[in-house]
Amino acid sequence: MKKILEVNDLSISFDTYNAEVKAVRGVTFHLNEKETLAIVGESGSGKSVTAQSIMQLIPMPPGKFVGGSIIFNGEDLTQKSEKQMENIRGKEISMIFQDPMTSLNPTMTIGKQIAESLIKHQNMSKKAAHQRGVELLKLVGIPNPDVRINQYPHQYSGGMRQRAMIAIALACNPKILIADEPTTALDVTIQAQILDLMRDLQQKTGTAIIMITHDLGVVANIAHRVAVMYGGKVVETGTVDEIFYNPRHPYTWGLLGSMPKLDQNKDEELQAIPGSPPDLANPPKGCPFVARCPYAMKVCKDHMPEYTKLSDTQKTACWLLDERAPKVDIPETAVV
Ligand code: SF4
Ligand code: MG
Repeated sequence: MKKILEVNDLSISFDTYNAEVKAVRGVTFHLNEKETLAIVGESGSGKSVTAQSIMQLIPMPPGKFVGGSIIFNGEDLTQKSEKQMENIRGKEISMIFQDPMTSLNPTMTIGKQIAESLIKHQNMSKKAAHQRGVELLKLVGIPNPDVRINQYPHQYSGGMRQRAMIAIALACNPKILIADEPTTALDVTIQAQILDLMRDLQQKTGTAIIMITHDLGVVANIAHRVAVMYGGKVVETGTVDEIFYNPRHPYTWGLLGSMPKLDQNKDEELQAIPGSPPDLANPPKGCPFVARCPYAMKVCKDHMPEYTKLSDTQKTACWLLDERAPKVDIPETAVV
């Protein structure tokens, strides 16, 4: 499989009034062509900052590029000027966000917003862009697209706005679509519809997707591979099957153990892991999960574990995988 994006040892900090918050600390992962990679973790794990860094959308300052590279098409996006990025954003790499209301322009019709990017990146005439807009709205399942295209965002329901966002994001056939919690604000039925839509569109267009989520249900639904983030680091990566059936990091066990069961309220997820994430103004020297890990050993506190390669696709950073560590079975709660 061909890699389309490679993030290498990326570190991003934020200067705050009295500290430097190390939001992303040496993150490495890649995205293959035509695949969906889920980046999963709690809020504050660094997943949104990672996503925004790919788009070079982190305001600097207060953001600060500490090091690493983001290779797309053989070029390092961290070295691009704002002007160069403008030719990549929306054209080669697009992004959709949790709340379409914050990224849609309330004063412009949906049609104009789709057309804007087509006119800018593809030199389309107004008329052709309008026509393509109608096609795109149809593609994302908006009924009466030739009427809807002339309406404003507030005339759309939440689910339709998210569909319109997807239409805008896909307008120029980007190679990569980054979706940051795109369904979190939607109710469960609409959420499932949007995920189905994204899966269908991926099959039709071949766009590779990075799906940022805290919800393992979303991961199971749409992803091929998963990167689990914690405390500004990727602690485990693997295929969906590896992560669900052979997870090897205690934080992944915790995530799986706290997946809502069928009779559980959706909002309860991720609350089963006691404790809170590390303070990234003063991050732990060793494993980021040490304060919450039921298996923590002496070595975990001061030394960051290296990645252990478990297969061609799975690697995990945990001292339990060191041959000198006590043997620990994957807890039953983690097995789905
Ligand atoms: Fe737990 Fe240690 Fe593994 Fe970190 S390295 S997850 S603290 S056992
Ligand atoms: Mg976020």
